[in-house]
Amino acid sequence: MNAILQPHQHFNKVDFKPKDYKDEKTPSFWCAGCGHYGVLTGLLRALAELGVDPNHLVSVSGIGCSSRLPYFVNSYKMHTLHGRAGPVATGVHLARPDLAVVVTGGDGDGFSIGGGHMPHLARKNINITYILMDNHVYGLTKGQCSPTSREEMKAAVTPYGGMEEPLDPILYMLTYGATYVAQAFAGNAKLGAQLIKEGMEHKGFSFINLLSQCPSFNELDTALSFRSACDQVDTAHDISDRNAAMQVVNKAKQEGRIPTGLLYKSERPALHERMAELVKRVGGTKDYDLRKIIDLARP
Ligand code: SF4
Ligand code: MG
Repeated sequence: MNAILQPHQHFNKVDFKPKDYKDEKTPSFWCAGCGHYGVLTGLLRALAELGVDPNHLVSVSGIGCSSRLPYFVNSYKMHTLHGRAGPVATGVHLARPDLAVVVTGGDGDGFSIGGGHMPHLARKNINITYILMDNHVYGLTKGQCSPTSREEMKAAVTPYGGMEEPLDPILYMLTYGATYVAQAFAGNAKLGAQLIKEGMEHKGFSFINLLSQCPSFNELDTALSFRSACDQVDTAHDISDRNAAMQVVNKAKQEGRIPTGLLYKSERPALHERMAELVKRVGGTKDYDLRKIIDLARP
């Protein structure tokens, strides 16, 4: 592993327009009015602003409507198992820390099926960007409550409303130590692009929650309701203060509002840097033999 290599070295390498990052072979095929189009627009703009070489870009997803997104991006891509995009992206990143790795996925994929992985992506400070496409519903399976659904949402298998408190992905990520935490409405592609760009430039785990309407299966959270509930975080907010970020979110929740923008950012060593340091400390990789571990593991 080379500790010097970073994704940033592949930034500003090409002069592409956003449309050049769209995979021409695969037209995007979400429902009309789906918020995920806004996420894709924001991502393509961010990639163009970064000038990242598509040959050094990997898009990874799990399963769900949102997890189709890598098909539409001019990059290497992996459409993996339900909830497993994070671990797969971790493997890609540790094998090639010089590549820019972007994970996209839904609220169910990330925080229910893949919920056990999320704290570890954050606490390990893995140098990848995770874009949550949060529509508060399972869309691909035609409308069930997800971990972020409102309690009162009536869905296919909860016709009288849900019974569970929704989870807040932002509070979750702040709690577990993500070093870049941001939020926007997916329809605000300008802000989405800015936050994704800064997240990709950030060294460490960057998490961006993009609130994205599902007009087919969630009648409560529409483009209009998301847009009208969003407030840009105050310019006086101290982004280096994790407690302050939590307070901003909690206060907004009490008022039925959604804080948007960059909420938290901090610096600490990323996992690939720690691994490079460890390899150096033990004298390099020349004597490293995986078979020794496998042999030790045998009864
Ligand atoms: Fe988008 Fe919902 Fe249609 Fe899925 S079902 S493509 S999330 S609008
Ligand atoms: Mg969803």
